[in-house]
Amino acid sequence: MIKAKKSLGQNFLIDKNVSRRIVESVSPQKGDLIIEIGPGTGALTHLLTEFAGRVIAFEIDTRLVEGLRLSLSASNLEVIEADALDLDWKQFLTGRRQSGAERLRVRVVANLPYYISTAILQKLIEQHDLIFDMTLMLQTEVVERIAAAPGGRDYGYLSVLVQYYSEAGKLFDVPPSAFRPAPKVNSAVVRLVMRERPPVEVSSEDDFFALVRAAFAQRRKTILNNLKAAHARLAFNIPIEQALEQAKIDSRTRAEALSLADFAALHRAMTRK
Ligand code: SAM
Repeated sequence: MIKAKKSLGQNFLIDKNVSRRIVESVSPQKGDLIIEIGPGTGALTHLLTEFAGRVIAFEIDTRLVEGLRLSLSASNLEVIEADALDLDWKQFLTGRRQSGAERLRVRVVANLPYYISTAILQKLIEQHDLIFDMTLMLQTEVVERIAAAPGGRDYGYLSVLVQYYSEAGKLFDVPPSAFRPAPKVNSAVVRLVMRERPPVEVSSEDDFFALVRAAFAQRRKTILNNLKAAHARLAFNIPIEQALEQAKIDSRTRAEALSLADFAALHRAMTRK
């Protein structure tokens, strides 16, 4: 039995029913390339290789990479020793696509190490046009932020980012007892299905997300004050107050009250020539 490294967020899934439930909810097909991040001791990996066309698993811990290579000899599995945070995902995914041999639908499945879960999520979502969907185990708090509607405490930059690129829904909760060692937080499985087209139209996604980030910079400040503080970095063609008025947003409101459509309207107003 491998000793779990806390520094690598190693909480291994030991409840076989949970593994099965996750893989059943993914329902891998022969036409799927499953990308698994952090396969660990293979709790999900071996089930995935049974059903998917191909599985590529990225694991940072040499001990686990070796263990998996020894214990899982499925011909459709490739275990790559790599740091998923450092990986050039665009290059990797386009490379796979261009190699032609793989006209497979790319699907991400991961019980993510919690210490880097949002960072990895953000990296992957940048590749929304190369990925079909993602089924992720995350700490419940992150799942709530992802799925939050405007108006609540959980709603923030991550909610806007994820909801712009995908349709997100929580699948089920997983208690700490399903893992060894048991984490201190509750977990949940979430599914993100990448959208073919975002629900709102923006002229520049980079500028749009810079605006959203600035709007949420200090949650207790009004939208006006947050935007004023970031004014130099944002592409405003007209005064902020005027842009807010044109977008029909009260300048005293807070970013957490704004929907995706509100942010898009604000972005349109501020960049109008
Ligand atoms: N999938 C396994 C399971 O469900 O039992 C393990 C999940 S465990 C929460 C997270 C896994 O991610 C560990 O195996 C850990 O070594 C690996 N990991 C941590 N940081 C990583 C990184 N930056 N890149 C790739 N894998 C990483």
